[in-house]
Amino acid sequence: MSVHVIGAGLAGLAAACALTDRGHHVVLFEAAKAAGGRARSYVDPVLGCRIDNGNHLLLSGNIAALSYLHRIGAARSLAGPAEPVFPFIDLQSGRSWRLHLNQGRFPWWIFSSSRRVPGTGLRHYAALLKLRRARRQDLVADLVGRGPLYRNLLEPFAIAALNTMPDIASAAPLRAVLAETIERGGAASVPRYARIGLSESFIDPALEWLSAKGADIRLGERVTALNPAQATVLAVPPWIAASLVPGLTVPDEYESICNLHFRHSLGQEGFWGLIGGTTEWVFARPDMLSVTISAANRYADIDNDTMAARVWGELSRAFNLPAEMPLHRVVWEKRATFACTPAQLGRRPGARTPNPNLVLAGDWTDTGLPATIEGAIRSGNNAAAALLQPIG
Ligand SMILES: Cc1cc2nc3c(=O)[nH]c(=O)nc-3n(C[C@H](O)[C@H](O)[C@H](O)COP(=O)(O)OP(=O)(O)OC[C@H]3O[C@@H](n4cnc5c(N)ncnc54)[C@H](O)[C@@H]3O)c2cc1C
Repeated sequence: MSVHVIGAGLAGLAAACALTDRGHHVVLFEAAKAAGGRARSYVDPVLGCRIDNGNHLLLSGNIAALSYLHRIGAARSLAGPAEPVFPFIDLQSGRSWRLHLNQGRFPWWIFSSSRRVPGTGLRHYAALLKLRRARRQDLVADLVGRGPLYRNLLEPFAIAALNTMPDIASAAPLRAVLAETIERGGAASVPRYARIGLSESFIDPALEWLSAKGADIRLGERVTALNPAQATVLAVPPWIAASLVPGLTVPDEYESICNLHFRHSLGQEGFWGLIGGTTEWVFARPDMLSVTISAANRYADIDNDTMAARVWGELSRAFNLPAEMPLHRVVWEKRATFACTPAQLGRRPGARTPNPNLVLAGDWTDTGLPATIEGAIRSGNNAAAALLQPIG
């Protein structure tokens, strides 16, 4: 069968690879000149070097993402610590600490005061049990929003995973993430990120793999109408899908992510969570310090210079850096993900449409997961499976 895959973000690439692997001929259309969508690397003219549009963190329990990398021959392109360790710095107290999970499923780390979250006792971890019962209408903050475990771990983790503030975010997708990672133990919770860049890990090897297997890749070709008789995976952002498929209900509220890239070498590689400030996650690469701030709609009124000065001030305090701000770049992704609220979750369609020739993919489709790399890749796999197994 010949299949048109529209959109070469991670969802479209995953669908294209799954279909190609099953012996189908894929024609992949991508509107932009480069593939990757919201997970891409590019040369930034101000910084004079290649950067990712945003830092992306995975966990070793993201099995669809890791299988995808394995399939395209890029499994070894990720970096990260050997252990399930998450270093944190509290900007208010100045205290540094590390969350260190144990490898196995039973959470021994909770019983060790040197390994668990500062200020927490055993009783605080009952919040994790509450999350196990989360339903779509339950809000993260209502369910678990109190105490040191929330401030020092669940809140930053929820904001990063859901890209939505916990007072409006549904707890159900957070529960899905935890079930596949921390609840499966430290072995499923080891942090992972692209060693060189997102494109080098997730995009370029996929394009090479697809080309080698005979797929037809058409970059810079925007699809403006669908042929109902053509087998098609539509893997575009939700607002584009809604414009191409009349009557399709999609999420229609978005959250932004702000990334700041500073041309500064910390002298070590790694990543840190920062608590109690504007800066949330810091990634240190050989010649760059990059910061991610999720659910960033709340900072939309702050201009880039003010934001950069504030974040550099926090980095200076946390890592004892010079006060003078180095060359930097502030990158906003305005529609980074859909807002992970109960109402928006209700607008996520499944992979199938009334037309068996047309299936949907994208991190906004109903995977049960938030809008993440794992969700996008899983949506692509789901779409390929739905196309190959029409109902009836
Ligand atoms: C700044 C930032 C940080 C993030 N951090 C993380 C993280 O730490 N961990 C994590 O797991 N996830 C993270 N994410 C989320 C992750 O990047 C996304 O979930 C994922 O990349 C979405 O992939 P997608 O294929 O669903 O959509 P997209 O990447 O949006 O792909 C859609 C593609 O369709 C193309 N297209 C649009 N219209 C047409 C058309 N008419 N014809 C042809 N092509 C078209 C677009 O150009 C695009 O390439 C982050 C996202 C952002 C923006």
